[in-house]
Amino acid sequence: MRLYILFGFLLLAVICSCGVDASQVKFGPLCSGNPSNHIRECDKKGCGAYGAPRNNGKGKHEGLDIVCADGATVFAPFDVKLNGKAVPYRVNNAINDGVNLSGGGLCFKLFYVKPIKYSGTLKKGQKIGTLLPMQKVYPGITSHVHVQMCDRSDPTNGDWTHECLDIVCADGVTVLTPFDVMLNQKAAPYINQPKKEPINNGTTLSGEGLSFKLFYVKLDRYSGTTLKKG
Ligand SMILES: [Zn+2]
Repeated sequence: MRLYILFGFLLLAVICSCGVDASQVKFGPLCSGNPSNHIRECDKKGCGAYGAPRNNGKGKHEGLDIVCADGATVFAPFDVKLNGKAVPYRVNNAINDGVNLSGGGLCFKLFYVKPIKYSGTLKKGQKIGTLLPMQKVYPGITSHVHVQMCDRSDPTNGDWTHECLDIVCADGVTVLTPFDVMLNQKAAPYINQPKKEPINNGTTLSGEGLSFKLFYVKLDRYSGTTLKKG
């Protein structure tokens, strides 16, 4: 990845970042408000990782939960074909909807989403639908889209989370520009997670033909400024 090489050479251990180079990202954002496809952490209802325990340890989580607020827009993560309705539960409730999808050589399902349609095709970034009211069914849960591969394999094999790069950086250390950049707008990695507020900051940058974000960084200004390398 070009950004990795640039950062690796120029800024080892100096920048903390989560860099996104849109042109090289295989899986685009799945939900509005969660540009890095952040996975649901553990809450009182369970954890979002693939294989996490379910039903008091009798079962395991057969998908991956991507954080998404109730009512948020769910996007096609790449060009997809819609292959009919998919439902998570036998007994109906307010979030019992979803869709079967294929694309990029993958077959998968999205649950808890009300799709705009159940057949046809969508381009990467187009709206698939809206997240259903999960808080009504599971109050206090981290609302999310459940991603499940048709063969129930680990979705992270398909790079759902590989949009970011973490560069080691101590708390309070100065973050430098890796090359001449333009500050575009403020960017925050989390939504609706009050505990994360102390680090919920960052910026969108462009330069050297790349567009990317740095998270967990506090800036004096977030837009309208060009900064020279270093
Ligand atoms: Zn799930």
